[in-house]
Amino acid sequence: MTSEEKWKAVSSCNNYYDGLFYYAVITTGIFCRPSCKAKTPLKKNTLFFDNIEDALKDGFRPCKMCRPDLNETTYEPNKELIERAKEIIINSYNKPFNRKKIAHKLGVSNNHLARLFKNYYGMTISEYIIGLRMEEATRLLTHTDIEIPEVALKAGVKSMSNFYKSFKERTGLTPKEYRMKSQ
Ligand SMILES: [Zn+2]
Repeated sequence: MTSEEKWKAVSSCNNYYDGLFYYAVITTGIFCRPSCKAKTPLKKNTLFFDNIEDALKDGFRPCKMCRPDLNETTYEPNKELIERAKEIIINSYNKPFNRKKIAHKLGVSNNHLARLFKNYYGMTISEYIIGLRMEEATRLLTHTDIEIPEVALKAGVKSMSNFYKSFKERTGLTPKEYRMKSQ
């Protein structure tokens, strides 16, 4: 995100950006969420921070109006959206993945969804989906006799080479080794 985009968000009190960054005002020593309704500061007095810790470390105090210091679980306008996204993903992780479709369903842009997800969960949507797929694969390898190519398909991975690569990255074993070990 460019600082120009951040500045636009701040000057329009856009809650779309809450949780993605914070801004601090040098002259007052206070930091806010983008959506804060406090008077918009002068651009030259504004600093941007990716997280609360950095703002605090630089000596800024949380604003009493927008309370950027409050726990994200008690105040987070985008939380519901991101949880709905997660729910859709969990229900369809083994089908071909289409982030645009999910974003459209939630009424936000593709990029915005990607950014929020990363911000909340510290990983991309693709990484999250691969994790779900590999979990399902390990479950099938442990509890069924299904052939390995079929396991990959059931877990939602069409390409066998991708399947082997992701599986090994996650478990340190090949699917065959994993199955032998867990039996
Ligand atoms: Zn504020």
